[in-house]
Amino acid sequence: MLAEILDGKSLSEKILAEIKLKVEEGRRKYHSVPGLATILVGDDSASKIYVARKTKIATSLNFHHQDVHFPETVKLREILETINGFNCDEKIDGILIQKPLPKHLDFDEIIKAVDWEKDVDGFHPYNVGLIFTKNWSTLESKEALNALLDEVYFPCTPKGILKLLLEKSLIAKEPQQIVIIGASNVVGKPLAFALLQPIFKASLTLCNSRYPLKDLKERTREADILIVAAGKANLIRGEDIKRGAVVIDVGINRIKDEASGKMLLVGDVNFGEAKEVASYISPVPGGIGPMTIAMLMENTWAGFKRRMEILS
Ligand code: NAD
Repeated sequence: MLAEILDGKSLSEKILAEIKLKVEEGRRKYHSVPGLATILVGDDSASKIYVARKTKIATSLNFHHQDVHFPETVKLREILETINGFNCDEKIDGILIQKPLPKHLDFDEIIKAVDWEKDVDGFHPYNVGLIFTKNWSTLESKEALNALLDEVYFPCTPKGILKLLLEKSLIAKEPQQIVIIGASNVVGKPLAFALLQPIFKASLTLCNSRYPLKDLKERTREADILIVAAGKANLIRGEDIKRGAVVIDVGINRIKDEASGKMLLVGDVNFGEAKEVASYISPVPGGIGPMTIAMLMENTWAGFKRRMEILS
């Protein structure tokens, strides 16, 4: 078996092209465009690359954008003042706080300062609550689910995973065993919450790092859909995957290639082995990464549209 690639890059390009058209229509209708602000603290090289990529894509969509880069030593007060400025800025629809933050800064405290209507990452406690209280139980169709995902600020990575799976009709067909490795607020928990809804007909296992590795691999071998977001290169090998499973690799790890000495970007799944066993697999790079950025732009567009409709 050679797995079909779940090409997040090409789906994200399609989504971005649609957003670009909507932005042009929106400019004519509302005489305004969506605005995205990013706040980066410190010199983490991966974070700098992510923010630069988001800015480049926002620019390509003709969004207004503003990027603030603070030194590692920045005081909480300065960040809160900047957030407050963006909260009041009519040109800004989305505010993104790039993680990780230095140890002296509490992300939970900072995200609470963001106006929840501009929290395009979906991390503000109000948005987390909204997601929980939406009426998921009556959803019957892929279209209704997509509409619900667009009504709230659903966190970008799990939203991207759901859209990639829905695009290929890989979920909600028949009862499935889904295993998610990694239970963070950013990926695993919101994704688990969505996949537990009746529309997916799934039984779900969510594992964190305290789950014994031996037992973890027993769970992964039972999974019809295996989603790995642990941040551990090569955690999942071919032998850990059920034949014909759908594998979503969320991990992003930089490792040194022993042969060439070059740094490589790899996921949490050994791609070479997994593609021989799985029916579908999302690659790293080119899978969930571009989908995450596309969902950030989609959330920013949705925030802009909601605001314009209230004003007009
Ligand atoms: P995190 O460190 O906040 O959470 C990792 C989770 O994995 C935790 O729940 C931890 O308990 C669990 N875990 C770690 N090792 C485990 C193991 N051996 N068995 C079971 N569970 C284990 O990280 P995160 O922000 O959720 O990100 C996870 C990975 O996904 C990272 O590599 C990150 O770079 C990547 N990521 C990618 C995107 C993207 O756009 N592609 C977005 C977000 C995160």
